[in-house]
This record gives sequence, structure tokens and C-alpha cells, in this order.
Amino acid sequence: MSGNLATVSYIGATILFILSLGGLSNPESSRRGNLFGMIGMTIAVLATVFGPRVTAAGYPWIVGAMAVGGAVGLYAAKVVKMTQMPELVALMHSLVGLAACLVGYASYIDTSAPLSGAEKSIHEMEIYIGILIGAVTFSGSLIAFGKLSGKIGGSPMLLPGRHWMNLAGLLVVIWFGREFINAHSIADGMTPLVVMTVIALLFGIHMVMAIGGADMPVVVSMLNSYSGWAAAATGFMLSNDLLIVVGALVGSSGAILSYIMCRAMNRNFISVIAGGFGTGGGTPAAKGDAAAPVGEVVPISAVETAELLKDAKSVIIVPGYGMAVAQAQHTVYEITKHLREKGVNIRFGIHPVAGRMPGHMNVLLAEAKVPYDIVMEMDELNDDFPATDVAMVIGANDIVNPAAQDDPTSPIAGMPVLEVWKAKTSIVMKRSMASGYAGVDNPLFYKENNRMLFGDAKKMLDEVLVALKS
Ligand code: NDP
Repeated sequence: MSGNLATVSYIGATILFILSLGGLSNPESSRRGNLFGMIGMTIAVLATVFGPRVTAAGYPWIVGAMAVGGAVGLYAAKVVKMTQMPELVALMHSLVGLAACLVGYASYIDTSAPLSGAEKSIHEMEIYIGILIGAVTFSGSLIAFGKLSGKIGGSPMLLPGRHWMNLAGLLVVIWFGREFINAHSIADGMTPLVVMTVIALLFGIHMVMAIGGADMPVVVSMLNSYSGWAAAATGFMLSNDLLIVVGALVGSSGAILSYIMCRAMNRNFISVIAGGFGTGGGTPAAKGDAAAPVGEVVPISAVETAELLKDAKSVIIVPGYGMAVAQAQHTVYEITKHLREKGVNIRFGIHPVAGRMPGHMNVLLAEAKVPYDIVMEMDELNDDFPATDVAMVIGANDIVNPAAQDDPTSPIAGMPVLEVWKAKTSIVMKRSMASGYAGVDNPLFYKENNRMLFGDAKKMLDEVLVALKS
């Protein structure tokens, strides 16, 4: 393939990637968006493999790598459960970071096309910055994987003087950067490069370890953004325009997503990165008076739930992580269909951080064929709860916790939540009184108009459906 044809293919792939991102912003066009992305990626891979920079001697390596990578990807896609997707995504981000580091070292020791003067300095700066971003992404994503999969505790690790440590690390990295650019030989430059890589790896670990459970959504989207910048840095090192553009697209869309997640959680982005918010999963946090649960919980049966739903004119369903665990979305759809046929106004309230990854609930509901027009964002229907007969919470906890509004000492204080307790009756479906991801007790369970339907969401909803139809 000639250089010109490869460039034209790259431009075509870039346009398809932009269209793909545009398509993914709306559930109705997301399938098309995915298709554009797949076609774009196929063109990009073919144009690279058959482009002028790859010789025939490289083909066996490329085919071998693609076979191994493809087999691992295929296996992962088959065995990974939907609830494990967030941790898989974190693991994938770490690979992008690792690739940036390896490409950086490889292009530093590659002497096949020697550069001199300003060109050499710029190339070395690209290598230094590329490895820096790659190493932070690699270690940070591995820790995020550990936290999301529960292998590492969710509580923030707050070292004394942590901000000073980070600052000192940054100054050392800048100083060694100067040493690296001024190095006279590859051997001389290796020491500053390795020292910087170690500091960047430690910084990545420290940064994510310092972030508490409740703020993990921001970390997930932030590492998504970092992986984009790491890919862009790799593009600079390899002088590959497509990789630069695609990396920048992923980097900036991840940054926008982080901003949206921060706004959804009413958090300042810088304070989240500085760490220390949120508490560990499982251990209830210190509570203020407002959060102290009072009264008793009132259990309800599936049959009684069905009676309440039969009598209701308007219903709002709030799904959360538990719906994903129980894979209850298909039964939710059946119940929705049944109630809609009976003329009930039924809608879904989606919190931006519900589940364990951005858009988690939308994906599940779309999979179960719930119509998009009744799936609303939190802001679109939060004012409607007082006029709602039944608010049904399916496996959600933190996103419906009134302590976020009432208790300034709560780790999730200030996070906007779905105000289900304002409905005539709220029903919370979960297996026990256990806390959610942020590890905070939930006063909603003790409210007078709240009922608890204890059990696995899928099993309980199956029983509700049977009772509704009988
Ligand atoms: P939560 O984690 O707050 O609560 C989920 C609840 O589901 C649990 O309390 C659990 O209670 C219940 N549950 C678990 N399995 C089942 C089951 N089989 N059947 C019925 N219930 C079940 O989830 P939310 O969606 O309310 O909130 C999301 C949380 O995750 C927030 O804290 C958010 O910050 C965090 N997060 C979100 C990310 C994102 O990008 N969306 C990423 C990382 C973290 P029980 O054990 O009693 O059944």
C-alpha cells in the first residue's frame, strides 16, 4: 500500500472514530456508533499493517501477536460477567499504559534512524512524557482493577504529608527530565529514565490508593482519559498521526466524562484526585445525627408488592448495581410491559453513577429492550417523586441515600441522589441490610413509608411478576 493511500485510509478511520463517538452519545444511535468504530478500527489496522512502514519480515510477528491478543480478548469476552466489566475495562487501560512505556523504551534504544539537534530533543521529550503518562496509567489502572474487583480494600490510604510527597516526586521527575535530555549516550539517559518510571509507577499507585470507594467512578473515567493520552503519546513516539488523533479523542472524551461524573457527585475534580474522599466498601462510615437510622424496617412480600403495583397509577423504578448482579433486567422489562398494558405510567430513574461503570444501567435496560423514552436521567424526574405512587428501588443503595442531603458528615454528603422517599411508598429490593459500595448506612430503609423486599432481585421480581399476572 502506498504512503498516500495509507494517509487517506487514516483520515477515513479518523472520521469514522469521530462519528462513532457521536453515535455512542445516544442509546438509539449507539449500535451505529459501535459499527462505525469497528469499521474504523479495521481500516486503521489494515492501513498500518499493509502501509509503507511495515516490511514483509514483520508480518509473522504481527500475525502471531494478533492471534495471541485476539485469543485472550475472545476468551475474556466469553467468560467475563457483565458485573465484572468495570474491572476488565480498568485492566485494559493498564495495558494501554504498559504499551506506551514499552514503546517509549523501544524507541529510545532504537538507533536505526539517528536524529540530531532540536529534532532529537523533541523526540526525547516525547519519549519521556510518553513513558511518564504510560507508567501512571499502568500502575493506577492496576490498583483501580484491584479496588473494583474487591481484591484491594476500598478505604482511602491517606499517608501523612501525601501532597508534599507528590510535589517532591514531580520536582524530581522534572529534574531528571533535564538530565535525560542532556544525556550524551543512551546508557547515560537510561538512569534518569528508569528513575522517572519508578516515580511515575509509585505516583499512579499512590493516587488511586488515596481515593475512597465513593469516588471510584471519577477514577474509572479519569484513567480512561489517561489511557487516551498515553495512546496519543505513543503516536508521537512512533510518528503515527492516527494514533495521536485517536488518543486525543479518547483522552478528551474521558476528561469530559470525568467532569460529568464529578458534577453528578457534586465533587471538585482536583479534590478527588488529591484523594481522601469516600470510605471503604463494607465498613459503615462515621455518621452524623441526621444519618443515624431510627425506627424499624418494615418487610414486605412479593405478593404485597404486586398489590401495591396493581393499585398504582404512576411508578418509578430505580435500578442499581444489585440489578446487574442478579441479572434481573429481563424480568424488570416483563413487569414494565405488563404494567404499561394496564395503563400505569411507569418510568426509570437513572443515577449517573448507578452500578459500577458509566452507563451501566442504560446498557442493561437496552439489552432487555426497555423503551428508551421511559428511561430518564436523575435530573429529569427527581421532582416527580411526590406525585408518584410507588418508587421501586432494585438493588440500589448509595444513589437513593437521603444521608447525602441530610448529613454533612456523611462520606457521600452533597452527592445528588434520587429522592425515592418522597413517593407515596418506596420499596427497596435487596438481600440484606448490608451497605452499598460507599459503605454508608442508609436511613431510607427506616422511613415510615418505606418497605423492604428482601431477597435476590431476580427471584423476587419473578415472584412479583407471577403475582401481578394472577
Ligand atoms: P450500591 O453498591 O450502593 O448498592 C447495591 C446494592 O445492591 C447493595 O446494597 C446490595 O445489597 C444490593 N445487591 C447486591 N446483589 C444483589 C442481588 N443479587 N439482588 C438484590 N440486591 C442485590 O449500588 P448503587 O448502584 O446504588 O450505587 C453505585 C455505587 O457504586 C456508588 O457508590 C458509586 O459511587 C459506586 N461506583 C460507581 C461506578 C460507576 O461508574 N457507576 C464505578 C465505581 C463505583 P445486599 O447485599 O443487601 O443485597
